[in-house]
Amino acid sequence: MKYWKKLSHKEQYKIITSALNKNINYQDFIPLGIPVSKLDPHVFYEGASFLNDAPLLRTYIQNPNHIGCHTLGASEPFFEGTQQLEREVIELLCVDVFKAEDNSCDGYIATGGTEANIQAAWIYRNYFIEKYNADISQIALLSSSDTHYSVTKAANLLNIRSVRVAVDDITRVIVRDSLDNAIADAMSDGIKYFIVISNMATTMFGSVDDPDLYADCLKKNNVHFKIHIDGAFGGFIYPISNPDNTANFANLNVSSITLDAHKMLQAPYGTGIFIARKGLMQFVYTKEAKYVNGMDLTLCGSRSGANAVAVWMILFAYGSHGWFEKINKLLYRTQWLCKQLQDHRFTFYRHPDLNIVAIKAHHISAHLARTYGLVPDTHDGAPNWYKIVVMDHVEIDYLQKFIKELEVNTMAVE
Ligand SMILES: *Cc1c(COP(=O)(O)O)cnc(C)c1O
Repeated sequence: MKYWKKLSHKEQYKIITSALNKNINYQDFIPLGIPVSKLDPHVFYEGASFLNDAPLLRTYIQNPNHIGCHTLGASEPFFEGTQQLEREVIELLCVDVFKAEDNSCDGYIATGGTEANIQAAWIYRNYFIEKYNADISQIALLSSSDTHYSVTKAANLLNIRSVRVAVDDITRVIVRDSLDNAIADAMSDGIKYFIVISNMATTMFGSVDDPDLYADCLKKNNVHFKIHIDGAFGGFIYPISNPDNTANFANLNVSSITLDAHKMLQAPYGTGIFIARKGLMQFVYTKEAKYVNGMDLTLCGSRSGANAVAVWMILFAYGSHGWFEKINKLLYRTQWLCKQLQDHRFTFYRHPDLNIVAIKAHHISAHLARTYGLVPDTHDGAPNWYKIVVMDHVEIDYLQKFIKELEVNTMAVE
């Protein structure tokens, strides 16, 4: 780990305070031309004494705007201090978690995984159009049937086709033959360029796709493709629980990655993360964004700098070892749950490196699902699966209670 260290509260306090001091101070400098300000002082009282000890809340009150992308080109100078913290988050994730060379990637804190996935698809659609003069009717998004629906949104918005590949019902792994067939069908339909969304933990199952399987099948057909990893759920777990995996920048097949800090990292909502190899963000440069200093290369416009500071704080409050311990605790609990399910012969799916357990719905009554807040794979008709996500608040004592009820429930059904 080059950057991911643990910092004490005092050290965090100093760094964030110094960053805020480098941002615009409306007492010393009154900008006439930009519609920015701190939070409305009539509503959000900035004199509260506890704010002194709460650097994140002070950041919210100062309300920095991180519009644009700060890893390349110029940026709005008014928020230079906190933009630097965002740059540190991006570089830490690229280098320490996703095995990139130093300064070889760009990225920004997006509104969520949805935006980050759409940003990826948008970049690659434009890339194929600009580089190869592709027509949009020749470009398709390729992903598994377990892929998050944000990818369908991306296809709809970008007016490109979405091709879904079947997975095995038990292993949730992409079936190679189905992938070969899906590619052949798409090609015979005129598709020449593929944007792959390869999952690093699907939302429902926590299943993980092999990006190299996609690469193999596409290379065989001599078509152009780009691979994006959707790690919205798994991005803060899987690289830690399976450090030898190949869904990262050490793999030349991988071009960009989505993460969500507002899932496993428990950051405030609005903290999705998009990271990509350098040279790609430029394909979504909006030349008309002239009033923004620097290049606007992101899907959203104005966005909160406080979100970047929140992610920075979480990463440095834990440090890499603290975070590894936390993930291992969750995996331990997941293992415990799976052992109980196994002993009771319930049918379930779990990827060994993740903290999601999907249980076949026929074991579970609607009442039990409601009581324990289990999430079905569909709200539209009878579900096939219910999932449990083992988060920080899901303790073994509570899982034990669930298993007991599940047992009683099953006996009643039989
Ligand atoms: C949650 C999730 C998304 C969407 O993320 P939002 O932050 O809700 O926009 C995309 N992909 C996967 C795999 C997810 O789990």
